[in-house]
Amino acid sequence: MPTSAPGRGVPGRRAATFAVLDPATGEAVDECPDQRPEELDAVVDRAHRAWPAWRADPAARSGALRAAADAVEAAGDTLAQLLTREQGKPLAESCAEVARTAARLRYFAGLAPRTRRIDDGRPVDSEVRWRPVGPVAAIVPWNFPLQLAAAKFAPALAAGNPVVLKPSPFTPLATRLLGSVLAAVLPEDVLTVVTGREPLGARLVAHPGIRHVTFTGSVPTGRAVAAGAAASLARVTLELGGNDAAVLLDDVEVDRIADRLFWAAFRNCGQVCMAVKRVYVPARRHAEVVEALAERAKSVAVGPGLDPRTRLGPVNNADQLARVLRVTEQALADGARAAAGGHRLDRPGHFFAPTVLTDVSPDSAVVTEEQFGPVLPVLPYRSVDEAVEAANGTGFGLGGSVWGADLDRAEAVAERLECGTAWINHHAELSLAQPFAGVKDSGVGVAGGPWGLYGNLRPFVVHRPREEV
Ligand code: NAD
Repeated sequence: MPTSAPGRGVPGRRAATFAVLDPATGEAVDECPDQRPEELDAVVDRAHRAWPAWRADPAARSGALRAAADAVEAAGDTLAQLLTREQGKPLAESCAEVARTAARLRYFAGLAPRTRRIDDGRPVDSEVRWRPVGPVAAIVPWNFPLQLAAAKFAPALAAGNPVVLKPSPFTPLATRLLGSVLAAVLPEDVLTVVTGREPLGARLVAHPGIRHVTFTGSVPTGRAVAAGAAASLARVTLELGGNDAAVLLDDVEVDRIADRLFWAAFRNCGQVCMAVKRVYVPARRHAEVVEALAERAKSVAVGPGLDPRTRLGPVNNADQLARVLRVTEQALADGARAAAGGHRLDRPGHFFAPTVLTDVSPDSAVVTEEQFGPVLPVLPYRSVDEAVEAANGTGFGLGGSVWGADLDRAEAVAERLECGTAWINHHAELSLAQPFAGVKDSGVGVAGGPWGLYGNLRPFVVHRPREEV
């Protein structure tokens, strides 16, 4: 197995760069600057100096964000190619990710906070205005590097804050390119991309000049981020892992939903926070559903993302591949059966055969943990109550879905899911205008839509008597 990029280097010595690997080949795509944590002082200082001018003029800000969206679209092909090379996803998906990055900028360019008057009968004019919180640290993972970065910097910038953005060391190259594309249209130091291995992120979240830390990543790192930000009492928004369940009801029309369900689990090689990660099916429909999913898993075109025939790329990195392998092998050792896949593919790169597991123990790690890869357990249930209890039975609470022909009945079951978003006959469909928030270990704070904008603002109340007192 190739060494994962961020781990490479001479032990004890910090190199000036590190290699970013192509997950489809294991070869280096390019070197990336490995910035030292000490460099953050100057970066955050420059962000503070850029802040007064950036916060002062909402109309200019809005124009700059629209120009930023245009610039991203103009650089779309180059960004998408680089994204596929370092992340692994099919080129069409990278193009869609770039398009969503531009769309996010355009959406937030058109949003402004609403001033509110409080009328509670007292002879005072009390007005709630909104002010930017100050420099924001944005830290993102490797599964959707550009789109998740934009989900953080677009609302933060629209609110009038400068942003320091740190991508994952597995996928920093397209983000660096995005940073230079945006630098051509945004004022200097309003958005700075920093790249490097840990402890760069840890130092950034604990930096005393940072006023809001917005983080997307795993639950354990999220806990470390919250602890780090506590030092300066910076606000934290945490978008963390998920272990979404799809509950199929007994009237589900398998032929109609099988494609949608399959892609809700396997898109981006299963490396989606709100992918379907467990499927619960009435016992009498179980074999039929396993067969429909396994058929698709066996026939989907797996390959390098730059090959136009590819629908499913490699797992992004060696650590993640090892995790996928561990949970799959453990399930198989405990008596599960692979209706499709169940093994690595015998070729260079981090390829894993799309896998559908049946006869899986509910206590198996592939059910209780977040597998974050192309492996899907399908579990039978006897009653809807049992399925809901199992769906809610992990520490996660990001999303969930219910699938059936009777929409009212499906919605009544969806209401019982403990999560931030519940879909019916769908999964992981998001609008830019809706709030996105996990419950339990899946997150703290709210992103998306106007809620995402307010997450980067603080209220400022002006209280004035109606008459001289
Ligand atoms: P990760 O937690 O390992 O890393 C995320 C980011 O944090 C990376 O940039 C990493 O370099 C940085 N980091 C690592 N240690 C840090 C520290 N001590 N302090 C500050 N930053 C640090 O996650 P990952 O493996 O890159 O991504 C996969 C995870 O992200 C999955 O759990 C997935 O569900 C989650 N995710 C959640 C959402 C969501 O919106 N809820 C979206 C996408 C991914």
